Amino acid sequence: MTETIKTLGILGGGQLGRMSAQAAQKLGIRTVIFTPEQDSPASQVADETIVAAYDDRAALEKFSKIVDVISYEFENIPVETVEYLTKLKPVYPEKRTLEVSQDRISEKTFLNSIGIATARWELAQNTKNVDEILKKWGKSECILKTARFGYDGKGQAKYKTGDDLDATWRKLKSGRVIVEDIVDFASEISVIVGRDRFEKIVTYGPMHNEHRHHILHKTTFPAPIAADVAAQSIAIATNLAQQINLRGVITLEMFVTRDGKILANEIAPRTHNSGHWTIDACAVSQFEQHVRTVCGLPAADPACTTPAEMLNLIGDDIDKIGEYEDKTGTFIHLYGKQESRPGRKMGHITTLKTK
Ligand code: AMP
Repeated sequence: MTETIKTLGILGGGQLGRMSAQAAQKLGIRTVIFTPEQDSPASQVADETIVAAYDDRAALEKFSKIVDVISYEFENIPVETVEYLTKLKPVYPEKRTLEVSQDRISEKTFLNSIGIATARWELAQNTKNVDEILKKWGKSECILKTARFGYDGKGQAKYKTGDDLDATWRKLKSGRVIVEDIVDFASEISVIVGRDRFEKIVTYGPMHNEHRHHILHKTTFPAPIAADVAAQSIAIATNLAQQINLRGVITLEMFVTRDGKILANEIAPRTHNSGHWTIDACAVSQFEQHVRTVCGLPAADPACTTPAEMLNLIGDDIDKIGEYEDKTGTFIHLYGKQESRPGRKMGHITTLKTK
């Protein structure tokens, strides 16, 4: 090994950063969190935190001086921040991956350009355009999605010919909107990929994901899908990791249609909620893989041989924690958030399933 990484810097202070910091500690790697938030979930377990805005150049420079390598834990970090930091220290995954994943138009254009199928989509220039596109497709309904800042169902709306399109468009509050075909999917799955500096690839999944109110509710591993579809989803995510010359961990969310086709939906340039079960069910979790690959250590065989289920604790779900406290094979993870709010991810529970 030629690289000796002693300190990992993480942009973002959420639970993904927290769990990466916990994994880093196990490997003897220090972590410094950069976040605008006081007392963030990640800073509670990291070695050090810099609380500053993402455009605070002086704070970013200070951050770069006390870390060896930088990563990020959520995709809405401004690209300019990563661009600035890249001049000072290595940042993984690379800026281009973050940029592509922040914008649905670039994301889908890129996926399609490397032969990865998505739901049919088209850029809508204006409201008039939406009906024209639907007519061309021979469809009467679609999903409108804003190009940027869409997650957990935010920035999207269903539209049916004849609905009040102006009102729907106004609600999206964006000039850049895509029209997307509604997929009649049999299941939603995800695959997490880690790739190291030696170009070794490891994968997790596919996982089967169930959403409630557009937020991940439950993840099941292995996904109950046909073996050839599962293998294909892994091949697609692996191809993506190679095409972007990944160093780090990314996640690909996909739909499986009723006739067994796979359509990619979204790239997350980071660890993912659908991989939280890997902490308790695998030899090497997605978070350890993240730390390893970004810090120059080799990716390690995840060895996920135990079937598992992960339940998110969202908002008031946290009040039901007592139900799980004395269950065998059940692991409780809480993120240290002081206040529960509707839709806020407070923790998760992993249950290992006997085969
Ligand atoms: P997204 O913000 O694109 O990840 O979408 C959030 C959720 O909305 C997905 O997990 C799906 O449950 C649903 N969804 C998004 N796009 C489509 C689509 N084209 N067809 C059907 N459901 C969709």
